[in-house]
Amino acid sequence: MTSPTRNPFRAATTLTGVALACGAAAVSAQTTTTTASMELVMLVDSSGSIDNTEFALQRQGYIDAFRDTDVQAAVASRDGVAVRLAYWSNHNQLQASSWYVLRDAADCEAFSTVIEGMARPFSSGTDMAPALDWAVADLTNNTIASSRMVIDVSGDGICEIYSAAHRDDDDDDDDDDDDGTSGYDWDQTMTSISDNGVTLNAISVGNTSGLEAWYADNLPTGPGSFAMHADDFVDFGDGIKQKLIREITPSVAAALYD
Ligand SMILES: [Mg+2]
Repeated sequence: MTSPTRNPFRAATTLTGVALACGAAAVSAQTTTTTASMELVMLVDSSGSIDNTEFALQRQGYIDAFRDTDVQAAVASRDGVAVRLAYWSNHNQLQASSWYVLRDAADCEAFSTVIEGMARPFSSGTDMAPALDWAVADLTNNTIASSRMVIDVSGDGICEIYSAAHRDDDDDDDDDDDDGTSGYDWDQTMTSISDNGVTLNAISVGNTSGLEAWYADNLPTGPGSFAMHADDFVDFGDGIKQKLIREITPSVAAALYD
């Protein structure tokens, strides 16, 4: 196992006050190990390309998903589903809820209330890579023991660090290794995900040119990983429900959606 070399969000804001409002037990970083069937980090795009109306629809999609009876049944069928939601934008901008272990419908309802309490923190760049680095470090270092670690990333844009890293800035025939400014390396981020046994699933939204293909080609990592696309933020909510069911109960989702 390798550890990510960069973790700019180790001291990221955790919404403790919001966490206390949730009926599900928040996992304290100081307690002994908690067990769950899986751990799921939801990384949600809070970059400036998403206007406030779209952001509200996106947030409502996650809120509604955890209030959906099919999602709640999927959660109840497992022996604990640990979840955490984080908003990301620029490379130094990430705000996360606490970890919660959901076991029944009431826990899912409570987690929806947590999401409702998280105001939009940022509206800057589309730096997905640092958020992915943070999530890998969080999954591998937290006090939750499970047999499956999953990152679920959503957004409406191509990662700017990827774009910069794959631009040929010096007119030779090779892509340059990094974006030359932030020091992040897209390939290193993706290698860290696979080397740590983390599964990465993704859902893109909107009509940005090349977005759906970029998500499908560059993000899914690990056995059974997948990418989905929603045409707009209104459709996004249904996509999130399907995605959660597919992540929590892959065999059930295969029957429903394949
Ligand atoms: Mg963006």
